[in-house]
Amino acid sequence: MIPIARPFIDADDVAAVVDVLRSGHLVQGAHVAHFEQACADLVGAAHAVAVSSGTAALHLALHALDVGPGDVVVVPAYSWPATANVVVLCGAEPLFVDIEQATFALAPSALDDALAKKPQVKAIIPVHPFGAMADMGAIEHRAAQHGIAVVEDAACALGAELKGRAAGRWGDVGCFSFHPRKSVTTGEGGVVTTSDATIAARVRTLRNHGQDSGSPVPDFVAAGFNYRMTDFQGALGTTQLAKLRTMTEARRERAEIYGQLLACTAVTPQATPPGSVHSLQSYVVLLPEGAGDKRPRVMATLRERGIETTVGTCHIPLTTYYRTRGRFSPGDFPVTDDVAARALTLPLFHDLTAQDQERVVRALVEILAD
Ligand SMILES: *Cc1c(COP(=O)(O)O)cnc(C)c1O
Repeated sequence: MIPIARPFIDADDVAAVVDVLRSGHLVQGAHVAHFEQACADLVGAAHAVAVSSGTAALHLALHALDVGPGDVVVVPAYSWPATANVVVLCGAEPLFVDIEQATFALAPSALDDALAKKPQVKAIIPVHPFGAMADMGAIEHRAAQHGIAVVEDAACALGAELKGRAAGRWGDVGCFSFHPRKSVTTGEGGVVTTSDATIAARVRTLRNHGQDSGSPVPDFVAAGFNYRMTDFQGALGTTQLAKLRTMTEARRERAEIYGQLLACTAVTPQATPPGSVHSLQSYVVLLPEGAGDKRPRVMATLRERGIETTVGTCHIPLTTYYRTRGRFSPGDFPVTDDVAARALTLPLFHDLTAQDQERVVRALVEILAD
């Protein structure tokens, strides 16, 4: 079976984790601090705070911005449900907006419509889908005009950039995930990046039971969470981060091969915005127009031929929870309807062979023609 993805774990990673396990110091400590510095340096942010998952990063970012009951937070309709769940978990209301057909990212025109309807928006969470940058220039401009905070859901976008500025350094806060399906893994894990010292301090407090990190005697200044990262995960993150460039380049070469193989087919790869670098967390294509109905059969037939694929990500407003809660129906987010029906994730990982890529594309084209 050609898998959809494969984490890259080498002897360095294993040794780093084993060393920490042998040291007896397992929870958040020097290795987490070291990993945080490496993340801050990579993103170009003044502060990085490591946490237990990408979802925890988003949750704490909203808490640190005082998002709570009565607040509205703009979320793209097409993303992993965590992007919306954290808003609900803060007691606020997600306001879904549609995406762009080519990049799958939040559409600035849909954001304009949303802001005209609901002036009480407190924050926007643009997502960089599969590591392709959202139109941050346009989003930042609107956020500044309306005095709205921006939290980047950069879960898939470590190493991505737009106009030379890294993902995670555009918004007030950037949130990354280190789940095994992401660019760099710590098993589970995440990080919050920011250049705002107050936000960074609040996130540090909230991840650790609300304990005041500046106080000489233990004191608690908020009802916080335990969203800490373990020290063996911090050590793993550091050795993983050292390989980020190599791993991303390997995926980029393979993405270029897919691009050539798909060029004369009716299958369209996700577009990368001009002036941006895609981190290529996943390689997602759109099946030909009208082929959405065929997708389950395409995926099942590919599987029979030893090729694993998945759908893209989720149409959040049409999941049972949000559909019921917001009374959404097909047609409310027409571009998301279309992309969510036609998207297909192809296998992409550092040592995928060119022969296997040819096999994938040949099988896909044959099945679609059938
Ligand atoms: C993976 C992902 C998350 C959640 O990250 P976890 O580390 O799994 O909690 C959130 N948003 C997006 C866009 C993701 O891809």
